[in-house]
Amino acid sequence: MITLALSKGRIFDESLPLLKAAGIEIAEDSESSRRLILATTRPDVRVVLVRATDVPTYVQHGGADLGVAGLDVLLEHGGQGLYQPLDLRIAQCRMSVAVRADFDYAAAVKQGSRIRVATKYVSVARDHFADKGVHVDLIKLYGSMELAPLTGLADAIVDLVSTGSTLAANRLVEVERIMDISSRLVVNQAALKLKQQPIRRIIEAFESALPGLPA
Ligand code: AMP
Repeated sequence: MITLALSKGRIFDESLPLLKAAGIEIAEDSESSRRLILATTRPDVRVVLVRATDVPTYVQHGGADLGVAGLDVLLEHGGQGLYQPLDLRIAQCRMSVAVRADFDYAAAVKQGSRIRVATKYVSVARDHFADKGVHVDLIKLYGSMELAPLTGLADAIVDLVSTGSTLAANRLVEVERIMDISSRLVVNQAALKLKQQPIRRIIEAFESALPGLPA
């Protein structure tokens, strides 16, 4: 049996065509069922639904053989013990710094001021500001980062941006793009040895079904 860990939402939806290319289709309605383990049309493959941030942990410790995780999640997790053979180029977005429209970020950076930054992505943010030589106080949040600058909790946030509409709705402006983000296939190293053939076949099928590179 091969177990694949996915998270609900964009990653689940955008993984379906790749799974299909590998001859794997979910055999039950994941919306109506509350089940966390889904059978597939391949008797030797099942899908487990876990929180996005738990995917690397499941795969690292063998709770799943393979998984699909965002680069954002992998960078915070550290990716230890995970083989990362493929950028699946799905769930694409970017990680950026955003501030309130009335906060002069460029001036604060230039003056060497200490900037209070709220984020779920403490590790990426720490590295980014250290590289730039910007002094920051990092505030770890678990959700709704956009609220932090609006309430005075922080001067800036580091968050994922896709269309930009969440920032715009909260009158925040993107002032720095830190990196492009997409989802990666992650594989348990021991599983890759023990179940080499079927796992290699899945990786190859995913690879041949990848969406085209942007122009
Ligand atoms: P948008 O309004 O389209 O810019 O989307 C931004 C919101 O969606 C933020 O709250 C992000 O945390 C979330 N988001 C956007 N893209 C992704 C992604 N690929 N994975 C996880 N969350 C995302």
